[in-house]
This record gives sequence, structure tokens and C-alpha cells, in this order.
Amino acid sequence: MDESTNDKTSPDKADVIIIGGGASGLEAGKEIAKAGKKVYVLEARNRLGGRIYTLTVPGFSTSLEAGAEFVHGDMPTTQSLLREGGIKFYSIAGKYYMIKNGKIQKSENLWTTFSTLLSKADSLKQDMPFSKFLDQYLNEEKYKAVREIAIGFVEGYDAADIKRASTFALREEWKIFGQSDQYRLKGGHIKLIDFLSKEIIKHNSAIFLSTVAKEIRWKPDNVEVISDKGKIYSARKALITVPLGVLQSKPDDEAHLHFCPGLPEKLEAAKSIGYGTAIKVFLEFKDAFWESSENQIRKTPELGLLISDTFFTACWTQLPNKTPLITGWLAGPQAERNKNTSDENIITMALDALCYIFNTNRSFLIKNLSAGKVVNWQTDPFSLGAYSYATVESNEAKKVLTQPVEDTLFFAGEALSEGTAMGTLEEALANGIKTAKELLTHLKS
Ligand SMILES: Cc1cc2nc3c(=O)[nH]c(=O)nc-3n(C[C@H](O)[C@H](O)[C@H](O)COP(=O)(O)OP(=O)(O)OC[C@H]3O[C@@H](n4cnc5c(N)ncnc54)[C@H](O)[C@@H]3O)c2cc1C
Repeated sequence: MDESTNDKTSPDKADVIIIGGGASGLEAGKEIAKAGKKVYVLEARNRLGGRIYTLTVPGFSTSLEAGAEFVHGDMPTTQSLLREGGIKFYSIAGKYYMIKNGKIQKSENLWTTFSTLLSKADSLKQDMPFSKFLDQYLNEEKYKAVREIAIGFVEGYDAADIKRASTFALREEWKIFGQSDQYRLKGGHIKLIDFLSKEIIKHNSAIFLSTVAKEIRWKPDNVEVISDKGKIYSARKALITVPLGVLQSKPDDEAHLHFCPGLPEKLEAAKSIGYGTAIKVFLEFKDAFWESSENQIRKTPELGLLISDTFFTACWTQLPNKTPLITGWLAGPQAERNKNTSDENIITMALDALCYIFNTNRSFLIKNLSAGKVVNWQTDPFSLGAYSYATVESNEAKKVLTQPVEDTLFFAGEALSEGTAMGTLEEALANGIKTAKELLTHLKS
């Protein structure tokens, strides 16, 4: 793998330049390189993986999944790649808790909420924003709790703005949610990225790290990508896999892509897809005190996932691994409100939330705390957010974005997939493969 240097010598012409070394770009790169075509992957950061980021931080006894952490059920493309790469995975474990108004609530509340939502949404003929759906179908006082849980889920899990989120897309998600196990990867998601990048390099192709694509000059069957260091990379085709946040960015933003000639229709379409944000807070303690009932602590034995009406909507443990690590999750509007909150203040607010959840005090938690870390995806210049969600206009926008430009410029990534597992790694991989196959048909001549 090459770190980009100040050397302005441009490498030989490739068949395809892929902009973005995340899951989608690398999966597409693997397909194209294995088909015997020369690929250059240009990646802005000094690491591969994008929103897959398995991080080692001093003070923590385990690596942290700063980005994607779970395989949400039996996802066919992900599982086939895991088999291909010989990467092992295991089911997560632990009990689900919900704390509201200071009390543990019955855990069936979430499932009753889904079944009420589905009973109302099933007959819906016309898509509408989720907030409008709530106003029209669940406005009565008896649905107050359902509304609150539903909003918490859409904002907290889908990282979505309820005024924009598509009810049709959410309906599909509710139908399959919780039906199968969730998994973690042994050694972390980075294993998958390592496998993909090795496959690309093995097949006569190259990856350039610390290379921010700034300008894309193109004409049919000829592309030049100019990097932040002024180096020119050329190829017959380009596949653009940057996050939706980058496609929606302003011209002055560090990762913004300048197309020449311009592609106003594509960039306008990108604005119609929803893009939410998230902050992860990692707190490792000396022991899993939540398993005990001492020191006024609310006992939550075998805690796996906990939803609460506090600073962060959800937090979880590492079960079946016993590492005493709590991961706090802020997403959607709550994460947006904290975009510029310092890491130190986020940790303080997270500890206050744990005081409420476990009915304990801050000094007890601080005495027990061995390490803390915050990862804020909204301020990351090469993501500018966390993952996409469907809006009422998304399907039309995706059709515009996935249409190749003069059979020369192609777009892929999690946000452009038509699958139902919105925002996930599965969609990033599936869309990478689909677009690579399409691109290959145009490279035959
Ligand atoms: C906090 C968080 C938690 C998540 N949890 C899960 C989960 O549990 N399960 C799940 O399935 N999914 C999860 N996801 C979503 C999942 O991580 C993404 O859907 C997937 O990784 C996206 O892959 P991608 O290749 O489309 O985009 P990315 O991974 O973002 O790759 C795009 C790449 O483009 C690069 N880039 C940007 N601008 C430029 C430029 N100008 N020049 C060159 N390169 C550029 C970026 O650096 C990046 O590496 C999570 C995401 C986040 C942020």
C-alpha cells in the first residue's frame, strides 16, 4: 500500500480509479481486480475502512469498534464475504432492558410498539414522512407511549429525522427487526477490510492512502483525478464511493469533489437522501458493577442492551465477552445537538446518564472508570455523518445517482443501495458488487 508522497510523478493509467477505500470501494475493487483489470483505490485517510474502524486505544483492554460493530442478522452478502475471507463471527448475548422515568420497564414494550406500528402502517398506500404518519394514525392519547418509543427508535437506531424518514422504508425494517441473531466479528470488522485490501493488491492493483481526491476531470472513457497533493491519477473509468455526507458537502469542505464538467443533477439528487449522524462513547470500568446490587446500584444482570430516556438512547456491553466495557450511543437529532460538545463534556454527561441508569453516584463511577473515549462521526471530515436513511424522495434520488455518466463515472456506497437493511455494511458491500459488475460490462471493449 502506498502512502501518497510529495512526488508528483503520476502512476501509469489504470482501468478503474476507485475513490474511497471503505467497504463498498474495496469490495468493488476486489471484484474488478479479480476480473483482470487494473484498479487504483484512492483513500483520503491514512487508513482503510472508512466507517469501519477497529481502534486500539491505550487504557482499554480490548479493541473498540468506533464505526460498524454488529452484523444485523443473517445478511447474505456480508456472510458470503466472511466465509470467503475465513473470518469468524459469534452471536452477541445478554438481556435487553428498558429504563424510563427512572424505572425498569417491561421488555416487551418495544415489540408491542412494532406490532402497533405495523398494524397501522400495513394498509398505507402512499408513502409519507414518519412524523406525518404518527400525526395521522397514532395521534390519540392511548398511543402516547407507542409514539415515544417509536420516535426514540427512529432517531436512535436509524439516526433519522422523523420529519424526513420514509414510513414505507421503516415498515420494511420493522418487519424483519429482531428476527435473527446479531453478530460480532472475531478480531473486529478490520479483518474484513484487511482481507479485501490484500485481494486487491494481489491482483496487480494498488491502494494509495492519504490521497484526497479533489478534482475529477472526465470525458467519455477517460478520467483524471487530481489529489490534494497535485498528483494526477488516470484511468478509463472512475467509481466514486465517498459517503453521502461528502456528496452533500460544500465546495470548501476538505473532502468535497469538484467534477469537471460538473454533475449538478447528481449532487442535487444526493441532497434528497437522508444522512444521520452518531457519537459513540466508550467507558471501560474495573469491573462489571452493573451485575452486582451493592452501593445503591440497580442490578441489571446479564446486561446486553439497554434503552433509556437519558443522554444516550442506548448503551450495550460486550457479552458474551466479559470485558467491563459500556458503549453509549447517541444518534440522530441528539447527536446533532452535541456536534460541538467537547469529548470531556460528553464523557461527563455519559457518566451522569449511567448514574441515572444504575441509580448510583458519579464519584463511585469515576473511582471505577479505567478508560474513556469518544468518537464523533459528524466532525470527521471524510464522513461528515454516520449513515443514510430513506426519505420519501430517496428512491428517485438513488435512480439518478446510480445511473452511470457516459459509461465513465459510476457511483456506489451504502447510501445508494436499494436493499432494506438501510445504512448498513450489508448495503455497502452489496452495492459495491452490483456496481462493479455493471462497470465491468463497460470495460469489455
Ligand atoms: C458509528 C457507526 C456505527 C455503525 N454501526 C454499524 C453496525 O453496527 N452494523 C452495520 O452493518 N453498519 C454499521 N454502520 C454503517 C457502516 O459502517 C457503513 O454503512 C459502511 O461501512 C459504509 O461503507 P462505504 O464504503 O459505503 O462508506 P465508507 O466506509 O465511508 O467509505 C468511503 C471512503 O471514502 C473516503 N473518502 C471520503 N472523501 C474522500 C475523498 N475526497 N478522496 C478520497 N477518499 C475519500 C473515506 O475516507 C472513506 O474511507 C455504522 C456506521 C457508523 C458511523
